[in-house]
Amino acid sequence: MAKLHFERPNIKKLNVGISNKFGSKTEFEPITEIDGVDIKELIVKYGSPLFIISEKTIRETYREAKQTFENRFPKVQFAWSYKTNYLDAVCKVFHQEGSWAEVVSRFEYEKALENGMPGNKIIFNGPDKTEDDLKIAIENKSFIHIDHFDELYSIMNLAEHLKKKPKVAIRVNMDTGVYPMWDRFGFNYENGEAWEAINKILMNDKLELIGLHTHIGTFMLSANAYHIAASKLADLAFHIKKKYNHTIQYIDMGGGFASKNTLKGAYLSGLDTSPTFNDYAEAISSALLNSEIPPDSLPMLILETGRALIDDAGSLAGTVIAIKKLSDGRRSTIVDFGVNILFTSFWYEHKVTPAQGFTQYSETSSMYGPLCMNIDVIRETITLPPLKKGDNLVVSRIGAYNMTQWMQFITLRPKVVMIDSNGITHIIRNNELLKDVKGLESVPEHLKKINK
Ligand SMILES: *Cc1c(COP(=O)(O)O)cnc(C)c1O
Repeated sequence: MAKLHFERPNIKKLNVGISNKFGSKTEFEPITEIDGVDIKELIVKYGSPLFIISEKTIRETYREAKQTFENRFPKVQFAWSYKTNYLDAVCKVFHQEGSWAEVVSRFEYEKALENGMPGNKIIFNGPDKTEDDLKIAIENKSFIHIDHFDELYSIMNLAEHLKKKPKVAIRVNMDTGVYPMWDRFGFNYENGEAWEAINKILMNDKLELIGLHTHIGTFMLSANAYHIAASKLADLAFHIKKKYNHTIQYIDMGGGFASKNTLKGAYLSGLDTSPTFNDYAEAISSALLNSEIPPDSLPMLILETGRALIDDAGSLAGTVIAIKKLSDGRRSTIVDFGVNILFTSFWYEHKVTPAQGFTQYSETSSMYGPLCMNIDVIRETITLPPLKKGDNLVVSRIGAYNMTQWMQFITLRPKVVMIDSNGITHIIRNNELLKDVKGLESVPEHLKKINK
C-alpha cells in the first residue's frame, strides 16, 4: 500500500448551536458574498456602509409564501406593504410578481401610482386620509379601508358630492388572545362597533362594502391569533350575507407575520421560534374553509405581509472603525453603521457576521455605531471572532423597516444596491450628499452675513 500523504489536522470546535444566555450564537462561517457577488468588492466600489438587497431572495420568498397559501385556499392576493420597504426597485419586484400595493399615506399612494399600479390595485389603509386623499382614491377606484366613523362620514359625503360609489372595506380590531391588543385602529369586533359600521354602510346605497380587513399586530409569534382573527371576519361576512344578502368579496388579513429575526431578550433564535408561512397559511385557511361561508361564495384572501417577505433579502455591509476597551475591561467594537440607519437594532439581536475568514477563537464584546450618542448600540453583547480596524461585517435580515425608518442624523445615508437575479449589481438609491439635505433649507437674509 502506498504511503498516504500527511494532511495537517483541522481541528474545529464542536458546537450544537445552543444559545448562550445572551441569545447570541457565535458565527462559524464568514459571509464573503451575496448571490455570488463579493462583499469586499461591493464595499470598495460603493462605499461602506452599504445596504444590499437580493432580488433573487425577494422573488424566492414571495413565491414560497404565495404557493403556501395557494395550496390551501383557492383565491389569494398579496398586496405589498409600502411602509415596510418602499424603495421603488423593491416595490417593482413585488409588483412584477403580481403583488398589489398596500399604502398608509398619500405619499405612499402616489409612489404606488408612479410605480405603475392602477388605482384598483391599491389598498389605502391608515388612520390619516384627508378629504383630498379620499377624493383621489375614490376617483381612482382604489380600495379604501375605513379606520373610524369620522372617516366613514367623510367618504359618504364625498360619494354624494362626486356621484361615485366608493369601494370600501372596514378595518376590524379584535381580541385574538395576544396582548396588548391593537385596538386603536379600526372598529372593534367584540363590542359591536364593527357591526355598527357595517350597518351604517349597508343601510344606504352610498358605498360599496367589498371587504373586511384586519391587521392584528406585527411580528406575531402566534399563528393561532390569525386563526381567531380569520374566524371572526368570516363570521362577519357570513352574517352580512344573511342579514343583507350582500356578498363580501375579500377578507384581508393584513400583515404581521414574524420574520426569522431574533427579538431582543429572546432566549431562542428566531429561526427556531418564528412560525413558518405554512403555520400562518394553515391557521388562516382552515378558519376560512371551516367557517359557515358556503364554498361557492368564499371571498378572496388578501395578505399584506411585509416584514416576513423582505427581511431576509436585505443585508447591511459595514466596517470596523475601532476596537476599544471600556472602563470595566469589556471589549467594544465600533462600526460605521449606527441606529440611525439600522433602526431595527432597537428590537432585534441582529445576526452580525464577519465578511472575512477567521480563527475559531471568539470573544464577547459590545457593538456600537459611529454616532456621538449613547443610544447608538447595535448589539449590547455579541460573541464574534477577534476583529480589527478595517475588517468588514455583514448584518443579515434587515430588509424590513430600516430603509423606511432610517434617519438622516449626524451622517448622510449610504447607498442601497440591488443584486439582480443574474448577479448584476444596480444602485437603487444613491448616497445622500450635503446638497440633498441643505437643498430644503433656507437662511433668512439677516443671517447670511457673519462677522469673521
Ligand atoms: C404595517 C402594515 C402591514 C405590514 O406589516 P408587517 O408587520 O410588515 O407584515 C400590513 N398592513 C397594514 C395595515 C400595516 O399597517
